[in-house]
Amino acid sequence: MAKNDDNDLKKIVSHAKEYGYVFPSSEIYDGLSATYDYGQYGVELKQNIRQYWWKAMVQMNENIVGIDASIFMHPTTWKASGHVDAFNDPMIDNKDSNKRYRADVLIEDFIAKIEAKIQKEVDKAAKKFGDSFDEAQFKETNPRVLQNQEKIDTINARFKKDIEEEDFVDLKLLIEELGIADPVSGSKNWTEVRQFNLMFSTELGSLADGASKIYLRPETAQGIFVNYLNVQKTGRMKLPFGIAQTGKAFRNEIIARQFIFRMREFEQMEMQFFVKPGTEMEWYQNWKEKRMNWHKSLGLGDQNYKFHDHLNLAHYANAACDIEFNFPMGFKELEGIHSRTDFDLKAHEEFSGKKLQFFDSETEKSYVPYVVETSIGLDRMFLAILATAYTEETLEDGSSRTVLRLPKALAPVKAAVLPLVNKDGLPEKAREILDELKFSVNAQYDGKDAIGRRYRRQDAIGTPYCITVDHQTIEDGTVTIRERDSMEQKRVSVAEVVSEIETAVDLKPLLKSL
Ligand code: ATP
Repeated sequence: MAKNDDNDLKKIVSHAKEYGYVFPSSEIYDGLSATYDYGQYGVELKQNIRQYWWKAMVQMNENIVGIDASIFMHPTTWKASGHVDAFNDPMIDNKDSNKRYRADVLIEDFIAKIEAKIQKEVDKAAKKFGDSFDEAQFKETNPRVLQNQEKIDTINARFKKDIEEEDFVDLKLLIEELGIADPVSGSKNWTEVRQFNLMFSTELGSLADGASKIYLRPETAQGIFVNYLNVQKTGRMKLPFGIAQTGKAFRNEIIARQFIFRMREFEQMEMQFFVKPGTEMEWYQNWKEKRMNWHKSLGLGDQNYKFHDHLNLAHYANAACDIEFNFPMGFKELEGIHSRTDFDLKAHEEFSGKKLQFFDSETEKSYVPYVVETSIGLDRMFLAILATAYTEETLEDGSSRTVLRLPKALAPVKAAVLPLVNKDGLPEKAREILDELKFSVNAQYDGKDAIGRRYRRQDAIGTPYCITVDHQTIEDGTVTIRERDSMEQKRVSVAEVVSEIETAVDLKPLLKSL
């Protein structure tokens, strides 16, 4: 499917709604912006993604364990982590359209446009010179590329300085000087840039008791940091070891558009890997590679992923990158991998007055471990999978079908059992097969409408296998099994069909490929 097209996203949003994957939240009240509910199939897909991540991280690694921390945490947690003071985004409003934007995103999008120009030159030259093309040399010598690169570097340097020094007057000036217009209205009539804290707060206890202000966690990571010592001691963990967690996080995003890509309530799957100081770069490289392999194992297309190394590092990081995915809106962050140094544990030591260290029996010294973090948005992963799976096809007979080519092991429904007609003992036989299947996989019975329509319905929800029970089944104990992507059909015995499907949808081969 063609990428980078808003229409694609619209189609996916409407398909997700029509087939029970994702609904707008509280839709009967016209919805709530940037919040969504997962429907009967969405919840299964989400569960399966989470399970694949969890198994790949926790079950497959002897030195990684999981936890499930509370969403509410002691408010000092967020002082220590820096979120109270610094979890801000610079926002800017357009006075004509009344639309709100992130000032940093406006500039990043402007830079991305210049980068696209460079890429265009490179693609053109690559085509012209063929095999003898040397991309690095071309970029270093082509005057147009050099000019554009210089432009990017100048903007980046000023942008970085403005953000670091919180010089929002200059940030606004930069937006004006670059001639950046509101992408919707084209207007250049901007307000001042202001800081906006992304944390949601609420009160714990009744107001009469003197309630205290607490926050909804903006990331799951801090639940791991504050439990570092509990897990290390009770699990008798030795460095290096990791703690994994999945769960909800909340951010009052300034702009939350693009479906489940950016929501105000979302889920993260994070793993903090505690290592000996000085070894963090090795582990950072190692986790970069491991996480990319996890993504590629799903078969969504290797060309759809790329690393984006951060040049502007957060104050606590000594290396950071994103794994970007080719979403319908273009390449965007799907996962972050960060070498966070000892920043978080040290800050929690300072604010709590408790030691959060590791006693190294070899050197007989205690120290605060360094941390390498992998952090992926479950909802973004869901969107990556759904968007890539969504396919509209014209078949040989001229008819068309919409099919979700989901990775089989992750599909919400693994098999549908369809009696060809609703008489002659076929429904009973079909139910017998379903009753067998449901012990190992999520399967469905569908007896309504013509068989062709039932196949289309299963294609649209991405069911990898349809098992059709017909009169021959009663005679010789065989069924037809139809594969979703190729639409090929073959006859197999009832005795074999269950194990054949179990094997085809098993997570094991994916885990083995890691
Ligand atoms: P972005 O730059 O897109 O705002 P971020 O760099 O703030 O993301 P992190 O703090 O690194 O994101 O969070 C880790 C992961 O959590 C991201 O890679 C993303 O997949 C997911 N995530 C972050 N914010 C959101 C959101 N508002 N909605 C859905 N997923 C999110």
